[in-house]
Amino acid sequence: MSGNGRTIYIAGAGIAGLTLALALAKFGATVVVLERHPRVQEVGAGLQISPNARHVLNRLGLDKALTAAAFEPDGIDIYPHGARRPLVTLELGAIMRERFGAPYTVMHRADLAEALHRACKRFANIDMLFGVRAYDVVSHARGVSVTVDEADGKSRSARAFAFIGADGVHSRTRTDVLMGPRADYTGMVAWRITLGQSVLSDLLNPRRTSLLWGPGLHAVSYPLPYRQQTNLVLFMKAREQDAFGDAPPKAPRLPRQVFGNVLLDRVRQAAGDEWAYWPLSTVNTPTWSEGGIGLVGDAAHAMFPFQAQGAVMAIEDAAVLAPLLMTEADAESALRRYQSIRQPRVGRVQELSKSNGFAFHLEWPFSLARDLVVKSQGPRGHLERLAWLYGYDPSPDPDGVPAAPERRRRAAG
Ligand SMILES: Cc1cc2nc3c(=O)[nH]c(=O)nc-3n(C[C@H](O)[C@H](O)[C@H](O)COP(=O)(O)OP(=O)(O)OC[C@H]3O[C@@H](n4cnc5c(N)ncnc54)[C@H](O)[C@@H]3O)c2cc1C
Repeated sequence: MSGNGRTIYIAGAGIAGLTLALALAKFGATVVVLERHPRVQEVGAGLQISPNARHVLNRLGLDKALTAAAFEPDGIDIYPHGARRPLVTLELGAIMRERFGAPYTVMHRADLAEALHRACKRFANIDMLFGVRAYDVVSHARGVSVTVDEADGKSRSARAFAFIGADGVHSRTRTDVLMGPRADYTGMVAWRITLGQSVLSDLLNPRRTSLLWGPGLHAVSYPLPYRQQTNLVLFMKAREQDAFGDAPPKAPRLPRQVFGNVLLDRVRQAAGDEWAYWPLSTVNTPTWSEGGIGLVGDAAHAMFPFQAQGAVMAIEDAAVLAPLLMTEADAESALRRYQSIRQPRVGRVQELSKSNGFAFHLEWPFSLARDLVVKSQGPRGHLERLAWLYGYDPSPDPDGVPAAPERRRRAAG
């Protein structure tokens, strides 16, 4: 497919922006990425990348780079409150490849961003502007007009086919350009820390992801062998004034109802005090676009990270939107179609992520009923229950139109 002379501006060089830039460049578009930071961000810790996103990344030529930097856990060990041994181990590894055609991996966020950035740099038709101070964009009948204040103080103005905000949960494109809502604070924060590879190995299986449930909180840990590290995140409640206060605490303090959870307590002790603190907010807006201006990733639909799908959905967004921007007659209809394809699926994932939080944090005696259900579903129950999620492949049909697998199957039959 030729580039048909289309120039697309993207605000944000996170996972959403870089994946979209790469996908568009492969179709021949001219892409300009505006990033406010001086380089691709290295902050954050681990990311789980499920097969539905891996299909997309592989098709963008990243399979080798990701295989080198990512790890495929054998399974997910689930520890209910107070348990020293897993209640059940949800199988990952080979069974995920067999069922869904791609691996389920974990990796450091910076390694994914770096792989995407390196791939983008190979395309002469991607221009990355770092340290951008401000941008302005107006949509009109002939596309969009963009003004950018660059790092060196110079200003550039241009006309383009479309402008896509991939500028994260607190997106300016959403709030100031599309006049959409601010993000909603969830009442929860994520405490993140990366530890040496062996720090937790006598407590948790170093070949698996571990999920530790407690009343009102939970923890997730998995190995990052490429960096010889272990990722640990503790999700806890926090009042808004504390979460966004000037002096957040340096390390999490486990609430009283968690006392007696020896494993969680030992994990917390072993982790030490070098934690990073991240208030969790979600984005809930029905409007992902107006004219030639649209949103992808967290800018459109930031969600609870309790199904590990925020970045995965951003990657799917890019796979759906890129071919539409290159084939539809105008950006407005491309963005409208993108929104109608993506919103039902993303909405379902947002709901699932939220309800996971509810289940993970249940208190006794409700937690007993939950544990019985989880145990009865067994080590492979999630393969059926989440087939709609992991089995989705947002790649384009041969005519360039993205389709859900069900539609492709019908077309084939
Ligand atoms: C604790 C935790 C664990 C998670 N685990 C997982 C997981 O395992 N799997 C998963 O799929 N997801 C996970 N997520 C969710 C995932 O991190 C996000 O959904 C994902 O990073 C969103 O990517 P994005 O590119 O949309 O936004 P971001 O990663 O926030 O990127 C936005 C980019 O835009 C730039 N930007 C912002 N404003 C401007 C501006 N005005 N001008 C120019 N540039 C701008 C930023 O600097 C940044 O580079 C997790 C989230 C948390 C908090």
